[in-house]
Amino acid sequence: MEVEVKHSIEVNQEDIDKKIKLRGWVHETRVFGGLIFIVLRDREGIVQITLPKKFVEAEVFKLAKKLRRESVISVTGMVKEESKAPGGYEIIPDSITVLNEADAPLPLDVVEKVPAELDTRLDHRYLDLRRPRIQAIFRIRHQVLQSVNNFLCEEGYIEVNTPKIVSTATEGGTELFPISYFEKEAFLNQSPQLYKQALMAAGFEKVFEVGPIFRAEEHNTVRHLNEAISIDIEASFLDHEGVMDVLERLIKRIYSDVAENCKKYLNYFENLELRIPEVPFKRLKYDKAIEIAAQKGEEIPWGEDLTTASLKLIGEDFPDHYFIVDWPTVSKPFYAMPFEDDPEISKSFDLMIGGLELASGAQRVHNYDLLVKRIGEVGLNPENFGFYLETFRYGMPPHAGWGLGAERLLMSMLELKNIRESVMFPRDRNRLVP
Ligand code: ATP
Ligand code: MG
Repeated sequence: MEVEVKHSIEVNQEDIDKKIKLRGWVHETRVFGGLIFIVLRDREGIVQITLPKKFVEAEVFKLAKKLRRESVISVTGMVKEESKAPGGYEIIPDSITVLNEADAPLPLDVVEKVPAELDTRLDHRYLDLRRPRIQAIFRIRHQVLQSVNNFLCEEGYIEVNTPKIVSTATEGGTELFPISYFEKEAFLNQSPQLYKQALMAAGFEKVFEVGPIFRAEEHNTVRHLNEAISIDIEASFLDHEGVMDVLERLIKRIYSDVAENCKKYLNYFENLELRIPEVPFKRLKYDKAIEIAAQKGEEIPWGEDLTTASLKLIGEDFPDHYFIVDWPTVSKPFYAMPFEDDPEISKSFDLMIGGLELASGAQRVHNYDLLVKRIGEVGLNPENFGFYLETFRYGMPPHAGWGLGAERLLMSMLELKNIRESVMFPRDRNRLVP
């Protein structure tokens, strides 16, 4: 009979006194004279391999004694109940095969007995990612992205992919990475903004994209990456309120799904209490926000963007997710729609948690003349926006949308101190490898 191949987590009562096969990494070995314990780690967790000298083949015992940590092995053996073993079972092997031996010493301790700096961890990220606690972050990230996909598809959005190599800046500015594109200069796109708007002109009505954005952020901070994943939507015939409603329901759905489906992974975050947010989220007007900041000693002149320091102070008053709304038109990109009755402020919003911005969105300007005017007002040249502007001339519906940073979301959800923790291979000013 073929021996059943299992993952650690799948070993159960029915396997007792049966033979199974497991494959994974040597997490730890402990040798006590006539008894060897191997902790085998696989994708799902750990399982104990127990070798009492008396009951296993001499050759298997000899091999087990020499096993190096993090080698990849395959083990076939009998399952026994053992309350002291992780998971409640142990395997008494009748064969162990080394599929690939690991060198020693390891550049990074996977068992996390020796703490390591983030930089060292990132240098050997493939090893760092083997750590169960770190794997948990990415299992949760997977759930987050799956929830995004499920929720938006259920709401009638279709998934699209827009180009990442572009000829014009979305919003101008210095945050672009130029690249050489044959004889021309091109850029890595900093946002799918112009393309998702063009898709409104194309008649798709509701689109979403989960894709990379590239930003040459000037400063090295714990909440900026140079390559991030942005979750974007754009929807026709909705205004800013309409897409805020989608956004807050999406956040709630993500939290609910993670709470329900990721219990095992959440256990790695000892002090974390995942609270599913209530909708609707609070709305805080920009005017009120700068008032709060001023009261706490941080003056922001009306019209200017909120500083990191001011957002921290404002965030103290809001324990849950909240929106900052009604931003001055001058503080937002040219495509944000000014209110008809008060064009000094725009139909724009930021989604916040504490002092951290998670998303920005707005109803967009859909009138061609107003858009040309706004592009000029922010000091950009409308001639550089040829393809984009044309889409506004032949039937552009009113529309709105937002962009939500996947890593910011994960970082805030799991209370990670540094955004780099939420990316497998982060890119920052000093890190291009691995
Ligand atoms: P910030 O002011 O925090 O730098 P932003 O206002 O420049 O952000 P937007 O252009 O509004 O960012 O982008 C939408 C969302 O994309 C942000 O709310 C954030 O979640 C995410 N995002 C933007 N830039 C970065 C970055 N460099 N690293 C990680 N996430 C980012
Ligand atoms: Mg923003």
